[in-house]
Amino acid sequence: MKVVKFGGSSLASAQQVQKVIAIIADDPTRKFVVVSAPGKRDKEDTKVTDHLIALYDAKIKGKEVQDLISTIAKRYAAIAKSFHVDEKIMVDITNHLEKLADLPVEGNEFLKDEIVASGEDNNAKLIAGILQAQGINARYVNPKDFGIIVSSEPGNARILFKAYQKMKKWADTQDVLIIPGFFGYTEGGQVCTFSRGGSDITGSIVAAGVKAELYENFTDVDGIYAAHPGYIHKPEIIKELTYREMRELAYAGFTVFHDEALMPSYRAKIPVVIKNTNNPHCQGTKITTTRDATDNPVVGIASDEGFTMIYINKYLMNREIGFTRRVLSILEDFGLSYEHMPSGIDDISIILRANQLDKTLEEELLRTLAYEIDPDELRITHDLSMIMVVGEGMRQRVGCTADSTAALARKKINLEMINQGSSEVSIMFGIHKEQEKLAIRTLYYTFFD
Ligand code: ASP
Repeated sequence: MKVVKFGGSSLASAQQVQKVIAIIADDPTRKFVVVSAPGKRDKEDTKVTDHLIALYDAKIKGKEVQDLISTIAKRYAAIAKSFHVDEKIMVDITNHLEKLADLPVEGNEFLKDEIVASGEDNNAKLIAGILQAQGINARYVNPKDFGIIVSSEPGNARILFKAYQKMKKWADTQDVLIIPGFFGYTEGGQVCTFSRGGSDITGSIVAAGVKAELYENFTDVDGIYAAHPGYIHKPEIIKELTYREMRELAYAGFTVFHDEALMPSYRAKIPVVIKNTNNPHCQGTKITTTRDATDNPVVGIASDEGFTMIYINKYLMNREIGFTRRVLSILEDFGLSYEHMPSGIDDISIILRANQLDKTLEEELLRTLAYEIDPDELRITHDLSMIMVVGEGMRQRVGCTADSTAALARKKINLEMINQGSSEVSIMFGIHKEQEKLAIRTLYYTFFD
């Protein structure tokens, strides 16, 4: 059987829900349905989750929340109107929303989680009711009953290992189970959410828990593009990629699928397919453990801006025991995390996310490095972008780095840094931000038709 997850845009209106019903009815093996809260109906609209966050903010400031409650209730009612949903379900949803107003604020660590999670919880009840009204044997299952036990970290929960054991028993369900995404329960019985966009994580956890044959993640694009469509006119859709390739692309800004959602499916070796609710017959993008990479060594080209590089050069650095450790312990003392650290015989570059530094911190850091490390050269470069060429096939194929650097050189793009990860799944180029778009286009047309 399969686990399907529908994102907020797929459940934003009655029209969208109609497409979801058709997708579920089309394949009787789609037994586990994970849902997000209703998302945006158009660009100007507000997601139910964002209304709920506003409700939480108002509540802790002691402000009136009734208007927000009625705005949210209307979102569900607008969807329900087109279907013959049992009246009891709508009463249940309204009561749930009304109760949020009375939750205690003082000493309630999980207040935000409880408020925000109601978005998916009520939507799961509504979708189950809609499916029942269509004659489908569907029912709502609460994450606690399903066995989604999570760590006690408000807004940032992680699944506990023991949860998988509990979920197994649902594997042979005859009914279609509708499970709200985005949250689980702590061992103490508190509602606790994953990070934002976390319904993808629930889908992956459920797929691993019931050992599904496939996890289908329905969203509003035809799949994962090989490069940013804002930079390339109609880039190719990636048909198949491995978990490792996905991880590398996600790191550099490919955000179709939540980062943390890969792990449970990866460990359980369950393939994931990203599909489009608005175009369900399109094959989508499949994420698997291995792929045949002979035809196309590169699957995608990603980029991310906002990096700063600190370059340190010291003659005979290679003979100085503990050199790197001292550099890293200075970073640790400053509370800074680094992203990459390519090194040579006598030099080392440390690449950090620029948003961690401000002018004062930066000056102090450079002063400390100069004093403690005594380098021959110490330089800082701002406004860097990282370009990643990603593909498992590059390992077997000679010349991918050469093809990339030659293409960049032809466009006179200066490389501040080159780093080939030890896994050889990606090559990374550090370049100046202004040349990012040009670099992506040049590399894309080097590896794709
Ligand atoms: N509704 C939540 C959010 O907007 C979770 C999700 O949709 O995945 O972040």
